[in-house]
Amino acid sequence: MRVSNLFTKTSKTAPADEVAKNAQLLIRAGYVHKEMAGVYAYLPLGLRVLENIKKIVREEMDSLSSQELIMTGLQRKETWETTGRWDDEVVDIWFKSKLKDGTDVGFGWSHEEPIIEMLKHYVESYKDLPMSVYQFQTKLRNEVRAKSGIMRGREFVMKDMYSCSTDAQQHEQFYRAAIEAYKRVYDRLGIGSDTYVTFASGGAFTQFSHEFQTICDAGEDVIYLHRDKNIALNEEVLDDENLARLGVAREELEAVKTAEVGNIFNFGTQKSEDMDFAFTNEKGERQLVHLGSYGIGITRVMGVIAEKLSDDKGLVWPDNIAPYRVYLARIGTDESVVLAADKLYDSLQESGISVLYDDRNARPGEKFADADLLGIPHRVVVSARTQEQGVFEYKKRTETETMALDAEKLKSILTA
Ligand code: ATP
Ligand code: MG
Repeated sequence: MRVSNLFTKTSKTAPADEVAKNAQLLIRAGYVHKEMAGVYAYLPLGLRVLENIKKIVREEMDSLSSQELIMTGLQRKETWETTGRWDDEVVDIWFKSKLKDGTDVGFGWSHEEPIIEMLKHYVESYKDLPMSVYQFQTKLRNEVRAKSGIMRGREFVMKDMYSCSTDAQQHEQFYRAAIEAYKRVYDRLGIGSDTYVTFASGGAFTQFSHEFQTICDAGEDVIYLHRDKNIALNEEVLDDENLARLGVAREELEAVKTAEVGNIFNFGTQKSEDMDFAFTNEKGERQLVHLGSYGIGITRVMGVIAEKLSDDKGLVWPDNIAPYRVYLARIGTDESVVLAADKLYDSLQESGISVLYDDRNARPGEKFADADLLGIPHRVVVSARTQEQGVFEYKKRTETETMALDAEKLKSILTA
């Protein structure tokens, strides 16, 4: 992509009402556009980041043999009434409306009930189980507070997955595999070492559910962490009984601020009972499906990475999430410089390396500031001076020193 063609521009300031660092940086860099509090549009660069995150999540969900689909944004009242969750007293973040004929509709804040309603048409026999489905979906929630930028939206992208099993044992097997897949996701996203599988309250069927909590100053949660034993609890389950059960003492725990980047639940058969979701077992009897639910906050993860990996100059994306791998800055307008920069742009792209090519006639300082703000991992400069020396100037976003490299060396670094 040539910067001269990119319609977004960087800006020195963020909207005055935007308090969160992640959104300030993402807006200034032109990754997102703030429509209103908690509601953000993803512009070309931001969309590429989201798609890179989704790609990693998709690969790991596919590795669980889960099947991708997409449910609807508009939902039926009757579906949610089966579990009592249409009620605003029970779910306080609903957006609702009516069709022209007066029929009530809800805007999907979750898809648990509609997914189960849909699956009832297909899951009939024990032979159909275990199975699982997932989607990337925009959720709409009338959140009271929306002050954490894209980390808490009124409109946000979630990956939600649902597992159907014959019984607790079959469920447990999938659940454990899902925990491992989630760990791989956060590792690949570059936040694995700061992300803790955290015990949270479990509901009717199990002692605990599990949250994936990432250490982050801008997070809204607090977890109680035993770093050595790698055990973390949230506030809801922090009591003497659970501490004893997990073999940790209260004094050994450290309270840390975190953001919940994912969570997984064992529903047992409660929801299946409410919604009459059953299969025929090997004896020919009807048996309730054992359900699990698995969420990842895709846009929140993007916000957490923006918060954690940024510095005073701007964003700092890891290679596999960055919208482009290389920021190619052309300094000067001499024909030979233009020619050399154009040639490098083409040849890097031919090697499968994505490049944001700053072909504008702007000052070097402006280009370097943009490269830093945008957080592109590798910067390459082509100028009259580098041309004379027969090299390219290379710098990593995370380093201050530049290096003079020949074409071959440059390519080998960029493809590493
Ligand atoms: P929270 O405790 O942060 O309100 P939740 O427990 O309601 O989240 P779920 O409904 O289970 O979360 O959603 C699954 C995941 O979606 C969460 O782990 C989080 O990463 C993300 N998420 C939830 N609410 C939001 C939001 N308003 N904006 C962005 N991401 C969100
Ligand atoms: Mg939560």
